[in-house]
Amino acid sequence: MVGSQFYSADVIVIGAGVIGMMSALELAEAGHTVLVFDKGQAGLEASWAGGGIISPLYPWRYEPPVTALATWSQQAFPDLIASLSVSTGIDSELSTKGMLVTATDERDKALAWGIGLSPEVIEISEEEAHALEPHVQLDETPLWMPRISSVRNSRMGRALRQACLHHPKIRLLEYHEVFLSGHLDSPKISSRGKCYTGDRFVLAAGAWTGCLLAGVKLRCPIKPMKGQILLFSPCHFVNRVVLANGRYAIPRADGRIVFGSTLEDVGFEKVPDRHAFESLYASALSMIPALEQTPLEAQWAGLRPGSPGGLPWIGAVSDKLWVNSGHFRNGVVLSPASSRLLCDLMMDRTPIIDPTPYQPWKAS
Ligand SMILES: Cc1cc2nc3c(=O)[nH]c(=O)nc-3n(C[C@H](O)[C@H](O)[C@H](O)COP(=O)(O)OP(=O)(O)OC[C@H]3O[C@@H](n4cnc5c(N)ncnc54)[C@H](O)[C@@H]3O)c2cc1C
Repeated sequence: MVGSQFYSADVIVIGAGVIGMMSALELAEAGHTVLVFDKGQAGLEASWAGGGIISPLYPWRYEPPVTALATWSQQAFPDLIASLSVSTGIDSELSTKGMLVTATDERDKALAWGIGLSPEVIEISEEEAHALEPHVQLDETPLWMPRISSVRNSRMGRALRQACLHHPKIRLLEYHEVFLSGHLDSPKISSRGKCYTGDRFVLAAGAWTGCLLAGVKLRCPIKPMKGQILLFSPCHFVNRVVLANGRYAIPRADGRIVFGSTLEDVGFEKVPDRHAFESLYASALSMIPALEQTPLEAQWAGLRPGSPGGLPWIGAVSDKLWVNSGHFRNGVVLSPASSRLLCDLMMDRTPIIDPTPYQPWKAS
């Protein structure tokens, strides 16, 4: 229930995916009152639909600013997931069994990229890889990234939602679509016909961020990029994340396999379709032939907040209006660093990393 005292807050966050909820928790821990809106239930858009790999796919393809956020986040994940588990009782199933990369012609680039970085990249033999993943079709010289983890992102979203619901400084308003209007310097927020005031607003609306910014006549490059996924029944055919030809298998603790994903530029349409099913299914069988005997449980689609180079906007577009969005394929892994950085900037603290590359407009 919403009391009139909650019509205003120090900070209003729009969007309760991993980015909005983590930002809210950071800001609340820093002492702010935070009002968080979502047009649906928290955590059920891209943050639910994703795979949960705690690394960019092919991390060597990204520019250093994405690596900087990913590296900071990867170190923060174990404590984050442990403390969410203690405070909410929800286990997000963080598993650190590494990522095996096969069928790539980027070996030299990958090995050079990994030098000196904590997510090291190692060349291993086919025999060694076979011992790790006996059901996977391998090429002669796979790459092995032993420190890469994965989470069950649907559970992480549930845990973050619980943490927000129980935080004394946060009010989470679900099924409240927000409309942004007015000018960049004096934006106005309304939802369900009521106006809300706050010292500052944070847009964390994922793929919908551009639609909101259009309300204050600001163009931004963040746009929806559809991704589809298949879910196989418990079979325990893979033990760790396996990546081949742009497609990946992620094991869940109960033996299910999440297999993804497509990358489609089709606007806000997010219906799973036959074409993606056939393409993903063929890739899954070519990676793990034994899956032919395994029943499929589900197919779904989500909308990533696509951005040029996967570089998010983190920072102010005016004194009043801030953005934390555009994490594209990496929003789960980048969420801890992005949210801490946003909070550092809003609190005038020394930032964890140089914020320049993520400044709105620069990061386009
Ligand atoms: C198939 C797929 C696989 C992926 N795999 C991975 C992976 O393995 N690892 C990884 O790190 N990332 C992965 N991602 C990317 C990751 O899921 C996203 O980058 C991340 O979830 C973005 O989080 P977000 O909070 O910005 O967006 P969302 O989770 O989409 O949250 C935005 C929220 O804003 C709300 N909202 C929008 N407009 C309004 C409005 N007007 N008013 C109120 N609320 C509004 C929405 O309802 C939504 O809940 C994957 C994504 C997909 C689709």
